Amino acid sequence: MDSVSFPYDAPVSQTLFDRASLVTPGGVNSPVRAFRAVGGTPRFMVSGTGPYLTDADGREYVDLVCSWGPMILGHAHPEVTAAVQEAVARGTSFGTPGEGEVALAEEIVARVAPVEQVRLVSSGTEATMSAIRLARGFTGRAKVIKFAGCYHGHVDALLAAAGSGVATFGLPDTPGVTGAQAGDTIVLPYNDADAVRAAFRAHPGEIACVITEASPGNMGVVPPLPGFNQSLKDVCAENGALYISDEVMTGFRTSRAGWFGVDGVVPDLMTFGKVMGGGFPAAAFGGRADVMGHLAPAGPVYQAGTLSGNPVATAAGLAQLRLLDDAAYGKVDAVSEAVRGLVTEALAKEGVAHRLQSASNMFSVFFTDGEVRDYEDAKRQEAFRFNAFFHSMLSQGVYLPPSAFESWFVSTAHDDAAVERIAAALPAAARAAAEATA
Ligand code: PLP
Repeated sequence: MDSVSFPYDAPVSQTLFDRASLVTPGGVNSPVRAFRAVGGTPRFMVSGTGPYLTDADGREYVDLVCSWGPMILGHAHPEVTAAVQEAVARGTSFGTPGEGEVALAEEIVARVAPVEQVRLVSSGTEATMSAIRLARGFTGRAKVIKFAGCYHGHVDALLAAAGSGVATFGLPDTPGVTGAQAGDTIVLPYNDADAVRAAFRAHPGEIACVITEASPGNMGVVPPLPGFNQSLKDVCAENGALYISDEVMTGFRTSRAGWFGVDGVVPDLMTFGKVMGGGFPAAAFGGRADVMGHLAPAGPVYQAGTLSGNPVATAAGLAQLRLLDDAAYGKVDAVSEAVRGLVTEALAKEGVAHRLQSASNMFSVFFTDGEVRDYEDAKRQEAFRFNAFFHSMLSQGVYLPPSAFESWFVSTAHDDAAVERIAAALPAAARAAAEATA
C-alpha cells in the first residue's frame, strides 16, 4: 500500500469518519466500507441519482458498486421512489400479513421455477442462516459443505474461508465463532467436484446440505466451471442432502431468474436478497414445497422476523422487479460488456497482467494473468495494483468496490455519458496500476 498515493483528500468525509469512529467500531456499519484494503478516507455519500453518487464534499462519482448489487435500475429510480412514497404514506410496519408481501412472493415464484414456496426475511444473512436451519431440520443431519471464497453473510457456521470481507482483513475465521458452531462446516475448494464427492464418502449420512454461491462474486467473479453446479445437485440427490443455491448476489441480476436462468440447474432451496429489495432490507429463501412445508407455522422448524415482509421494503422490491424486463437485462448486459472492454483495453495498453472474469453482467478484474477458478487462484493476484488503480479511478470520479475481491456492478441507468466518464478515467488508472509496487 506504500506505493499508493491518494490524489486528493475528502475533508468533509474525513470529518464525518472521525465522528463515526468515536461512536461506531471502525467508523462503519459494514467492514468493507472502511477502505481498509485500499487505504484512504471512505467517502460518505449524501445522494444518488441514476448512475451517479455525490459525496459529502460535493464530488460526483460514476457508481460501479450500486450498493453492492441492489441498485440495478440506478439510484432514485422515479417509479421505485413513487412506490416507496405511496407505501410509506400508508404506514411503515403493521406486524400482520399484508398484500405487498404476497405480491412479492408471487413475483419470485413466477420468475424462478424451482421456487414453489418462499419466506421473506430482511437480509441475505438471515436467508442463508434460515435455509441451513431448514436443511438440517428437514434431513435430520448436521453437516454443511461450503466452498472457500464463497460468502453467505455473517452466519456463524458459514464464516469459514468466506471471501471478500474476511479476506480483506486476513482473518481465516473470526473470533466469536465457537468450535461447536463451525465444527459441522466442511470447507472445500471451489470448482472441485471430486472434493465434494470425497467429502460425501467420508461422512456418509451426515451431510445436510451443500451451499454455494450460484456464481461466486465474493472472491471477485469466479463462475462455476461447466457442469460444476449440476455435479453438486447430483451428488446431493444421490446422498439425500439438499442443494442450496445462494442467489443473494446473482438473483434477479444475472437474468430475470438469476443464475438459475443462466445454467438451469434446479436447486432444492435458494436464497435471495439485494435486487429483490429495491434498495431496502428485503431478502428471501425458498424452494421445494415439501421442504418449505417444514417451516413454522406449517411445520416444526422455527423461523420468524418482526420486520419480515415489511410493506415499504416489499413495495420497493416489487416495483423494481416489475421494471426488470428483458429489455432492462439487455441494457445491463450491454453496459457491462462495454465497461469490461474498456478496462481490458486500458490495462493491456499499459502492459498490466490482468484477467477480466464475468458471470452475465457481473464482472471483476484480477491483477494476474492466470485463470481464476478458486479462492487460492484469486489470492495470487497482485492486489497492490488494484489499490493504485482504485485510487486513480476514485480521484477521477469513478467509484469502484474498495477491494480487489469484489464484483463490480452496473445498472440500466449507466448511459453513454457515464460510460464515457469511465473511459476517460481508465488510461491514468491503468498507468497507476502499471507503476504500482508491492
Ligand atoms: N450471500 C451472498 C452471496 C452475498 O453476496 C451476501 C452479501 O453480500 C450475503 C449472502 C449476505 O447478505 P446480507 O449482506 O444482506 O446479509
